[in-house]
Amino acid sequence: MTISMQTDVLIVGGAAIGSAAAFFLASQPDFKGKIHVIEQDFSYEKSATALSAASIRHQFSTPENIKLSQFSSAFLKGIEHYLAVGDEVPAVNFKERGYLFLATPDGLHTLQSNHAVQKLEKVDVSLLTPSQLSARYAWMNVNDLSAGSIGNSGEGWLDAYGLMQGFRKKAISLGVHYVQARAKKLHRSGRKIISAELTDGTQISFDKLINAAGTGASALAQTAGIELPVEARKRTIFYFTSSAKLENCPMVIDPSGAYFRPEGDGYICGIAPRLEDDVQCHDFIIQHHLFEEVLWPLLAARVPGFEALRLKRSWAGHYDMNTLDQNVILGAHPEIDNLLFANGFSGHGLQHSPAIGRALSELITYGEFRSLDLGAFGWSRVINNRPYFEANII
Ligand SMILES: Cc1cc2nc3c(=O)[nH]c(=O)nc-3n(C[C@H](O)[C@H](O)[C@H](O)COP(=O)(O)OP(=O)(O)OC[C@H]3O[C@@H](n4cnc5c(N)ncnc54)[C@H](O)[C@@H]3O)c2cc1C
Repeated sequence: MTISMQTDVLIVGGAAIGSAAAFFLASQPDFKGKIHVIEQDFSYEKSATALSAASIRHQFSTPENIKLSQFSSAFLKGIEHYLAVGDEVPAVNFKERGYLFLATPDGLHTLQSNHAVQKLEKVDVSLLTPSQLSARYAWMNVNDLSAGSIGNSGEGWLDAYGLMQGFRKKAISLGVHYVQARAKKLHRSGRKIISAELTDGTQISFDKLINAAGTGASALAQTAGIELPVEARKRTIFYFTSSAKLENCPMVIDPSGAYFRPEGDGYICGIAPRLEDDVQCHDFIIQHHLFEEVLWPLLAARVPGFEALRLKRSWAGHYDMNTLDQNVILGAHPEIDNLLFANGFSGHGLQHSPAIGRALSELITYGEFRSLDLGAFGWSRVINNRPYFEANII
C-alpha cells in the first residue's frame, strides 16, 4: 500500500543548504506551516558539505557573491544568537585568518579589477606589493609575483560539519521534521509539482518544494522535466604536515590555482584538475597524481619549506558545478510555480549557506527576496543562455 504524507514545505537534501533553509524558514515569524526535510543519508559522509575545505572569503568578482559572504561571516561571528539550542552553541570554530590571492604580472589586471569591485562593496581587503608580501610572509617566495590581495577581516575557515549540524539541530528544536529517505521522483501536473515519491513508494504532497539535493539535484529535476545544468565534478583535498612553520598563514590562492591553508597541526591543499580532465564524475577515488605531479611542485616553489612535507591523508568530494557560469541557480523555474532551486554552487556553497537559507525562507514566505536581491542568480540567465560569470573560482 502506498503511504501518503502531507506537509507545507518539503526540502529535499538536508546538508548545509537544506538545513539552513529549514532553520531560516522555521524562524520566520510570518511563516506558520509544517516543514519536512528528506535526507537520504544522515551520516552525510558523501555530502559536499562534510567533504569541503570549509573556507569563506569576500574576495569574489560579483557583488552578489560578496554580499552573500558578508552576511554569512556576520552570521558565523554571532552564531550563538542564531543557532544556540538552550545552552548548547554549535562548534563552528570560525578562524578569521583571511584569504591571500596572489598574482603574477599576467593576472595583475584581474586582481586589480576584482579589487575595485570589492572596494565598492566595502570589502576589508588590501593590495600588497611583493616587498610587502615578503615582509609579512617571510616563508613565501615572491620572485614571480606582482601583487597579492589579502582579506583583513571576515574571511577564514570553519567547521563545516559543525555548521550544518548547528542548522539541523536548531531547525529540529523549532519543529522541523527530518526523515531519512531518498526522493526518487517528482510528480508534476502542469505548473505544479504535486508530490514527491520516495524509494519505498511513500508519496509526500506539499505546497512548496525546495531542491537542495547538491549533486543529486539534476537527477531530481529531470523527473519533473527540468534540465538543470549542474554536474558532479570531483575535487580532492590533501592534508600534510611539514616542519616549516608558516607564521600568520592565511588561505593562500596561488596564481596556478593551487590553494593551501593551515588545518590542525598541518595544512590542507588542493587544485582543480585540468579542464579536459574535469568531467562529470560520481566516484570518490582520490586523484593521487594531482598531489605528486602537480601540487607538491607548486607548493614547494611558493613555499620552499614545503620541499619537506609528509602527506597524511586525502579525500575526494564533488562540486555541484553549474556548467553555465559557476554560480548558484536560485529560485523557481518559470514553468513551475512551487519548486525552488538552490543548486550549482560550484565550490562556494558552504560559505553561502546562511545567506542562501535566509533567501529561500523569504521566497517561500513572501514570494520575493527581502534582505538581498539575488535576482541575478535566477533561472532567466540559464534559459536565455546569458551567463553571469564569477571570475574568482577556486
Ligand atoms: C572538495 C570540496 C571543497 C569545497 N570547499 C569549499 C569551501 O572552501 N568553501 C565553500 O563555501 N564551499 C566549498 N565547497 C562547496 C560546498 O561544500 C558545497 O557548495 C555545499 O556544501 C553545498 O551544500 P548542499 O547542501 O547544497 O549540498 P550537499 O552538501 O552535497 O548536500 C546535498 C544533500 O542532499 C542529499 N540528497 C541528494 N539527493 C537526494 C535525494 N534524491 N533524496 C534525498 N536526499 C538527497 C545528499 O545525501 C546530501 O546530504 C567544497 C566542495 C568540495 C567537494
